[in-house]
Amino acid sequence: MEDATINRVDLRLNNKEFYKKYGRKKIISTYTLGCKVNQYETEAMEQKFESEGYETVPFNQKADIYVINTCSVTTMADKKSRQMLSKAKKKNKDAVIVAVGCYAQVAHEKLKKDAVADIIIGNTRKNSIVKLVEDYICKKEKTNLVDNIHQVKRYEDLWISKVNHKTRAYIKIQDGCNQFCSFCIIPYTRGRIRSRGMEDTIHEVQALTENGYKEIVLTGIHLASYGKDLEGASLSKLLERLSSIQGLKRIRLGSLEPNIVTTEFVSHLITLKKVCPHFHLSLQSGCNATLERMNRKYTTEQYLDRVQMIRNYYKEPSITTDIIVGFPGETEEEYQQTVSFVEKVNFSSIHVFKYSKREGTVAARRKDQVDGNIKHERSQHLIALGEKLKQNYINGFIGYKKKVLFEESIQLDNKAYHTGYTNNYIKVIVRNDQNLENSIQRVDLKIVKNDMVLGNLLQ
Ligand code: SF4
Repeated sequence: MEDATINRVDLRLNNKEFYKKYGRKKIISTYTLGCKVNQYETEAMEQKFESEGYETVPFNQKADIYVINTCSVTTMADKKSRQMLSKAKKKNKDAVIVAVGCYAQVAHEKLKKDAVADIIIGNTRKNSIVKLVEDYICKKEKTNLVDNIHQVKRYEDLWISKVNHKTRAYIKIQDGCNQFCSFCIIPYTRGRIRSRGMEDTIHEVQALTENGYKEIVLTGIHLASYGKDLEGASLSKLLERLSSIQGLKRIRLGSLEPNIVTTEFVSHLITLKKVCPHFHLSLQSGCNATLERMNRKYTTEQYLDRVQMIRNYYKEPSITTDIIVGFPGETEEEYQQTVSFVEKVNFSSIHVFKYSKREGTVAARRKDQVDGNIKHERSQHLIALGEKLKQNYINGFIGYKKKVLFEESIQLDNKAYHTGYTNNYIKVIVRNDQNLENSIQRVDLKIVKNDMVLGNLLQ
């Protein structure tokens, strides 16, 4: 954007008049913190602006309007959200600043006082963001439109027809959570469970597939709750319907609660060949006493049963997970229970998080907080174990011939290489001069190189 700062009042002009005066479109830029659901929502908000004649630019560029999709999963995320709002203001002091998302939802009073954001909308009204911005530009009154999220019953529809700079499309199908894990603030920022209509999801995926996307990832705040609040809907039914979409090659599931894994669920899933054999089953701890303090709704025995159920139907599925170390009250003995359980399940990879005290949660009020150094030691130890398990899993596929969806091209020693993922989420790299981006190719898996496999393209 030329540095010709515009007179903010002129943002009232319609696009044609604005273009005539400034020789360019009105420009928005976005910044997303947090999860895949947030990323999906930002894509959808960007596309709403674009469909109204605005131009989107990367966040490092100057814009007339900045939309910051905030996160509040940790105290650090809160701090980062505030920083990004100020950063946007510094980029263009005349820009309209919009605070959206989880931090805006829980801290809108504080944000109002900070006065950096001109418009504050929490986790509702994202589908009317363009109108809210245009109303603000006309009225010029700071707008705080945060609803009581606990009273929101209907899923707010958003829509995407493309995904910037990506081959895989994350599709939001669910919002809210009723679990109230004692360490988590999300039920207070996202409210109660709400599922997206199956037809809306199917239409969106059809549109994306027509635009060339071959893989979708279904995501939500608590995906396992999909359909529980919607008559006639269920994750199984939706997957069956999506599987019949021509041109769609792969359906990957986002993070799942283990309790969704039943014989009925898995025996149906295995019949849907497009569903990837990759299950991210969130564990959080391998110790029953800690799971109870976390208010998680399963025991390690039940968790292991579910994993075994998946392995009874799928050959070498990828089972990945999240684990929190240093949860209040976690003794060395309890931590060692987690270590042994992780080895017993033999995960293909694990995401390790150090417990982060989050004001407003039950666990934050516990007196038995674990020392930071102990948390650090345990996380380093478990990350190393996770790396070892990942290497073991990848090594087990050397010599296999697997289909890979190529996503990126890179230059190494002036030679063209391409990276992508198998359906069980193994990262593969091949040498080839042709552009393989967004194509599915059969690859002979040869050698493990760090956390990926070097392979040969099969004709
Ligand atoms: S399931 Fe637990 S950790 Fe996940 S969003 Fe809900 S409350 Fe948070």
